Amino acid sequence: MEFAAFADRAADIEAEPADLETVSLVCDLFRDAGDDLPIVARFVQGRVFPAWDERKLDVGPNTVYAAIARAAGQNVTADDVEARLADVGEIGAVAASYDLGGQQGLAAFGAGGGEDLTVASLYDDFERLAATEGDGSQDTKLDLLFGLFNRSSPDEARYLARLVLSEMRIGVGEGAVRDAIAEAFDVPVSAVERAVQVTNDYGLVAETAREEGEDGLAEHTLTVGRPVQAMLAQAGTAADVLDSWAEAAVETKFDGARVQVHWDGETVSVFSRNMEDVTDALPEVVEFVESACDAPAILDGEVVAIDDSGDPLPFQQVLRRFRRKHDVAKAREDVTVELRAFDCLHADGEDLLDAPLRDRHDRLGTVLDANVADLTLTADAETVASVEEAALEAGHEGIMLKDPDSTYSPGKRGQQWLKRKPDVETLDCVVTGAEWGEGRRAELLGTFELSVRDADAGAFETIGKVATGITDEELAELTDLLEPHVQSQVGQTVTLSPAVVFEVGYEEIQASPTYSSGYALRFPRFVTVRDDKEPGTADSLERVERLAEEQ
Ligand code: AMP
Repeated sequence: MEFAAFADRAADIEAEPADLETVSLVCDLFRDAGDDLPIVARFVQGRVFPAWDERKLDVGPNTVYAAIARAAGQNVTADDVEARLADVGEIGAVAASYDLGGQQGLAAFGAGGGEDLTVASLYDDFERLAATEGDGSQDTKLDLLFGLFNRSSPDEARYLARLVLSEMRIGVGEGAVRDAIAEAFDVPVSAVERAVQVTNDYGLVAETAREEGEDGLAEHTLTVGRPVQAMLAQAGTAADVLDSWAEAAVETKFDGARVQVHWDGETVSVFSRNMEDVTDALPEVVEFVESACDAPAILDGEVVAIDDSGDPLPFQQVLRRFRRKHDVAKAREDVTVELRAFDCLHADGEDLLDAPLRDRHDRLGTVLDANVADLTLTADAETVASVEEAALEAGHEGIMLKDPDSTYSPGKRGQQWLKRKPDVETLDCVVTGAEWGEGRRAELLGTFELSVRDADAGAFETIGKVATGITDEELAELTDLLEPHVQSQVGQTVTLSPAVVFEVGYEEIQASPTYSSGYALRFPRFVTVRDDKEPGTADSLERVERLAEEQ
């Protein structure tokens, strides 16, 4: 396909505001693309190489301005181009606004001499641009780009400039490309989507859809060594998941950087969340996987920084290591990192994307000897709270709640993975009761009854009980603080005169007949003792009513 023809189609697509029409224009383009279909399927999204491909053109804006200026003639400088960009606001329009070409003597620098650009020849030149590295490479890139602009019509220059700077912006997103492939080659959208998820390569998928149809698409599998997009999480609450799933998988949320680790039995590759290859920056992870991973695998996990005793350090420490290209050995002495694996996409020749999380996690445990995140399966709110408490106490960020029956959906941010939202509000409640603990906690008060002030009635009304968020040390302090206020005791349960105020976090306030206030706190967690507050200044029932309404 001539690049001029591609540019024409791109202009039509850009001018089309309606989504459906856009898909149909992209569909026509794909049908007419011939051998260039894989390239066209990427160019139309502003991509030169497949997403899994590490190569980059590595051409900065200044090189593009200089190349345009040179192709525009002797009176134009890179500064002029930049000034025009400041006016016009978009590089494609700037490139199209000059009368490019005619710099005959120099045109020989451009590949193909003075011939018309084609999609295929342009892609070859892009490959050359990407391969040009080292000293003097920016000059070589400038010469190459100049040759391309010098042979461009205004429309070609518009889309050439945008492609080079990854600013295509003609309104074609991944969804439109997916739908257009399905429409053009009469295959189900879901088959296209699945093939894209495993190959991460729209060009390949478009070609397969055309040549081999739905069956061919279904045959695509993950390739160890080629990253796929990571599955993502939404914010959610424990209440949400326990209301809608039979069981939740609860895991520590590690505070580090997401990685996908590929191990083919000989080589380890580590990719960032954006599928950038970060292997060289993380030698410990490579060494660990080489020694601890028993079979070829694709692992999903988090790289965390740890201190000498193995406890997690804040996320900022990981950043000092993550994309480091120089002095890695020195950086490694300063900050140690470790992998925490929580998912397994492929194990020993078998793709696991369609397996339920609970099975993927089991496989993870069989391929990896250590550093596998614990997964707790539970339907019980108290258990969720205690996993969270343990995670926070160990210095982690919090917890993730996952649907144990969910499959792995690359690139999807769905309801299957939830990061527990931190509590938004806190309430200052009066402690009006407690229970003596059991076993080694028999001497300690725990499970504290919480009340709020009913200003009208001049009384305290119960709203819940809190037992989580409290360390053993704090329990001892709280017992000392509360014991003098015990009024009466029945069995293990004591009644306390209102004296001490707790600040309490919660997920939700629910109307409830269980407590005398008519409300219950869901997932209450102890935050602190409000030494500065008297029961008379604790939160009122009125505030609870208001908060419940605002939810
Ligand atoms: P956020 O970055 O706040 O959107 O939270 C999602 C991120 O948490 C993921 O992309 C991971 O990098 C990270 N994370 C930490 N621990 C886990 C885990 N156990 N499961 C999934 N993601 C996790």
